[in-house]
Amino acid sequence: MTSYPRKKTRQIMVGSVPVGGDAPISVQSMTTTKTADVEATLAQVYALAAAGADIVRCTCNEREAAEGLARIVPRSPVPIVADIHFHVEMALAAIEAGVDCLRLNPGNLRKPEEIKLVASECKDRGIPVRIGVNAGSLDKRLYEKYGGVTPEALVESAQVELGLFAEVGFDNVKISVKASRVPLMVEAYRQLSQQVDHPLHLGLTEAGPPPAGIIKGTAGIGTLLMEGIGDTIRYSLTTDPVEEAKAGRSLLESLGLRERRNVDLIACPSCGRAEIDVYKVAQEAQAALETREIPLQVAVMGCVVNGPGEARSADLGIAAGKHRGHLFIRGEIVRVVPEDEMVEALVEEAEKLVKEGFDARLAAADKGAAQLAEADRQALLDAKGADANRSEARVELIHRRLADGRAEG
Ligand code: SF4
Repeated sequence: MTSYPRKKTRQIMVGSVPVGGDAPISVQSMTTTKTADVEATLAQVYALAAAGADIVRCTCNEREAAEGLARIVPRSPVPIVADIHFHVEMALAAIEAGVDCLRLNPGNLRKPEEIKLVASECKDRGIPVRIGVNAGSLDKRLYEKYGGVTPEALVESAQVELGLFAEVGFDNVKISVKASRVPLMVEAYRQLSQQVDHPLHLGLTEAGPPPAGIIKGTAGIGTLLMEGIGDTIRYSLTTDPVEEAKAGRSLLESLGLRERRNVDLIACPSCGRAEIDVYKVAQEAQAALETREIPLQVAVMGCVVNGPGEARSADLGIAAGKHRGHLFIRGEIVRVVPEDEMVEALVEEAEKLVKEGFDARLAAADKGAAQLAEADRQALLDAKGADANRSEARVELIHRRLADGRAEG
């Protein structure tokens, strides 16, 4: 796996998941159900875990939510973080519910004695806290001191909270300084990272719906990760949170920061040479492969003229040619299948590759597949060759016309 020199942070445990130090960067998301609705919330927690979330946060905004957490935590497949705003009683109730971590927002749980009370309780029970600073709810005093929301103001908000925790000897902490503007968020985390060695939870808050929300989140989170900053991440998208977990996992996999767990589907953008509807086949392949644990790069290419060559580095791929699909493993043609069986053949081969390995599947290649594929390729090349000949004839006409012009002049 690729690795970017990572800023050394201390490690904390969120339930069974280590965060910080040399622990893998974890993915987080948040449920959108009423926490009091235990079955609905657990269904979402399971969906998030299946999509790649290592840790899930649930709001604890009322007594019934705290009671729900007491029932959710023992049945959850991943550690549960209680999100606390405004009410110290909810923080204390969440602790009683047995949650694995609290998230406190310094902007709206402000009374020092209340913050210290929660920190003392967490210290006694070994529960970590995320100091979750948010640009949108920055403490008014800091807003006035800095003349607005600045990176310095966000960092100071976290430092003030850390100071209160230190008064009761509590430092089992991770920190976030989220904002909805990428440059502000990136700079705040850079500054924070220079000042503390606590693990950092990265996020661009209120990023909005995809695709813009994913682009903004990736710009902010990806930039920081490539600078070695960040120990756990969350995309905040205005959509089904399963998309947040998928995006988080996908970002870490594409940066080489987590092992590939699911398929990495690559596909050509299609062009005038395409022999199939590339968008449709790629979408069908994505839908069929993404639910399986297939840690391979799989290519869907619109034509056999360039496809297998361009996707040579893919583990497995299929290219369309003359109403047939050419299935290839690391650039070598292994089977030729009818066009309407392309996706099915791709999925079947992907599963066999994972089970049997590359050598075995290359050895099991259909005899004659390569020749048949080459014949298709040549036929398409010949068709393109006719185009090319016509082009050359036109160029010749231009030459002649210009030469005639010179002679007349
Ligand atoms: S693989 Fe073929 S169809 Fe796809 S972009 Fe390349 S030339 Fe065009």
